[in-house]
Amino acid sequence: MTTNIVVLGSANADYSMRVSRIPAAGETLSGTDFQFALGGKGANQAIACARLGGQVEFVACVGSDSAADLALSEYRDAGIDVAHVSRVDAATGSALIFVDESGENCIGVAAGANDYLDHSRVAAASTRIEQASHLLMQLETPVPSIQFAAEIARAGDTRTILNPAPAKPLPSELLALVHIITPNQSELARLTDRPVTSETEAAEAARRLLDQGPESVIVTLGADGALVVSHDTVTHIASPQVAALDTTAAGDTFNGALTVALALGESLTDAVRFANRAAALSVTRRGAIAAIPTRVEVDAFR
Ligand code: ADP
Repeated sequence: MTTNIVVLGSANADYSMRVSRIPAAGETLSGTDFQFALGGKGANQAIACARLGGQVEFVACVGSDSAADLALSEYRDAGIDVAHVSRVDAATGSALIFVDESGENCIGVAAGANDYLDHSRVAAASTRIEQASHLLMQLETPVPSIQFAAEIARAGDTRTILNPAPAKPLPSELLALVHIITPNQSELARLTDRPVTSETEAAEAARRLLDQGPESVIVTLGADGALVVSHDTVTHIASPQVAALDTTAAGDTFNGALTVALALGESLTDAVRFANRAAALSVTRRGAIAAIPTRVEVDAFR
């Protein structure tokens, strides 16, 4: 069975280094362990879908710089269709990251090319969106284009999954178009303006989102797995217990795995079980893209 997934979202290049402490204004400090890594929630989720067995079309914008060359070849190597990854006259989205000795970080993000993902670029991919079984999006690219893509998906009977990260106010028109929304606890708290510190509060806040349109809210709970909230059921699905090393790409792996399993026709609860296993495996490894497992690895994991 082949899946047909469109991931629409950001493509970034992350530049990080370790410093003894976060530099103060006007200060220059020497750092160590400089690293360049590809990222962006859109790209990470597209790679997660591809590694986990999905047939993926990525709709995104990269710049006209060397980071874009590296990004495009990484996506192609993962088997992703990049026909709708546009090169624009800007810098590829970038994050500059300082990490201090205690693990605390300080990050500046320039959206760069991601801000060029406008209606015309979404329209160019409309046939692919209409023909896909699932459309997976996040919030690192302009919201009006995300809403436009969700409208195209509705017209074509494509199911839309929105990972509302990073959290920001969402137009009610967008929420009404989405089938499944997948916030983590802090995103759910921001989206609903309510505290989310327990499973009861998470279910209560999730119901507020359900009232605005989605069929299901999947709240990711870190090491505790995920809570699946639909109109008449609340189901907690535990994650396998693992020794966590680095949780950087956990949410992206979860969303990619969830989408692939749903596109393969699995039930929502089975898809969440698969997503928990894939994400738990990702936290046992360092890095973002480097930590995302393949289907074979997830199947062999317990
Ligand atoms: P985000 O990474 O977006 O903040 P979460 O922290 O909720 O989101 O993690 C997403 C998913 O990753 C969880 O639902 C779970 O499946 C998995 N996960 C995260 N942390 C752990 C952990 N320590 N052990 C096992 N699974 C984890």
